[in-house]
Amino acid sequence: MAEDLDWPALLAYDRAHVWHPYAALPPANPPLPVVSASGARLRLADGREVVDGMSSWWSAIWGYRQPVIDAALAEQIGQVSHVMFGGLTHAPAVQLARRLAELAPAGLTQVFFADSGSVAVEVALKTAVQYQHSAGRPGRTRFLALEGGYHGDTLGAMSVCDPVGGMHHLFRGALPAQVFAPRPPRPGLLDPGWAEALRALVNRHSDELAALVAEPVVQGAGGMWFYEPECLQVMRDVADEHGLLLVFDEIATGFGRTGTMFACERAPRARPDIMCVGKALTGGYMTMAAMLCTQEVSGAVSHGEAGCLMHGPTFMANPLACAAALASTGLLLDGTWQDRVRSIEEGLAQGLAPASDLPGVRDVRALGAIGVVQLDHDVDMAAATGAALRHGTWLRPFRDLVYTMPPYICSEDDVARVAGAVVAAAAVA
Ligand SMILES: *Cc1c(COP(=O)(O)O)cnc(C)c1O
Repeated sequence: MAEDLDWPALLAYDRAHVWHPYAALPPANPPLPVVSASGARLRLADGREVVDGMSSWWSAIWGYRQPVIDAALAEQIGQVSHVMFGGLTHAPAVQLARRLAELAPAGLTQVFFADSGSVAVEVALKTAVQYQHSAGRPGRTRFLALEGGYHGDTLGAMSVCDPVGGMHHLFRGALPAQVFAPRPPRPGLLDPGWAEALRALVNRHSDELAALVAEPVVQGAGGMWFYEPECLQVMRDVADEHGLLLVFDEIATGFGRTGTMFACERAPRARPDIMCVGKALTGGYMTMAAMLCTQEVSGAVSHGEAGCLMHGPTFMANPLACAAALASTGLLLDGTWQDRVRSIEEGLAQGLAPASDLPGVRDVRALGAIGVVQLDHDVDMAAATGAALRHGTWLRPFRDLVYTMPPYICSEDDVARVAGAVVAAAAVA
């Protein structure tokens, strides 16, 4: 069927009229047409099959056409595809809420379903403000975030992204101004200077801060930066000392990507008050995210002036998305993902090692099913993507980073191929 499509005409229209993410219109580099996908592979319109080294931006952890998720969706379509969540409920939502509470760090039992990661972050920020209002601290409306962080593209979420990487100057006046702490130190180096800097900032601004917001252990789209897990405990302590809520954004790191179910488990006592999940939640099938919080938080918000959490998306708890998420999280329950992620980490560490000797390479790192080659210059996108495709792999580098987070189902050979593609891309970038 795909072969019958008039691809030149479709691509011409795409080029002239369809925005792609972070792209000009028309875009600098034309996008590649995908006609189908299965397992870890994307099939392109010209017949090439390539391993998806990006898992569709962290989300397709089981690859494509996963039989259990396919079947769950087909079955749900036969029941109900969507129904409003105001005043109505359905089993997939309730079952998924219970599943998330079981998987999440202890205490995060209350669930708000959102329709994308950015919206889950917006909901988390609003929840923190409403919590502080209920607690008699209506002046606490700002957030402390980390330099190098990424939390999404809507205005509130953007305001807690790295101010330079997020080009905050372009949006001055439209974005609330937040407080930023330095990026936490690399793993193995708990720099007391960092903890002091964080403490001093919170001290200075505590009267106006509602919450501290961070991606635990791995900062993703803000620079693929891995940091010392002990820093999470410092954040927990500082938040407690000054009455801030602690928000962990696990949208990229959740569901096993870093080797633990949630990245914050590496600092077991640093449990957040609020946690956001998204991306891999539905195994990459549907757009869905969620905010989880403690009963203390939900209770305070519910007893505040508004008497409710002031949010309610049209497609909240979409039953199809819930069904996909239940199926995908169900596949995590037997724990076999842990061995897969560990072996991907080993495969990436080994396969990426040769990149260290390339000119222009600043750093090579792997954690869980994430592998990164950082350059000392910005990537030549067309050259890097082309080199990866010649190695049978889809990669989407950004800034100074060539990186991969492959599906957990990748075989050893797939991982070796992806790692080889990252090295080849770094060599020409
Ligand atoms: C991708 C991402 C988001 C935003 O999610 P969307 O679904 O793209 O809105 C937020 N936080 C983190 C850490 C992310 O990686």
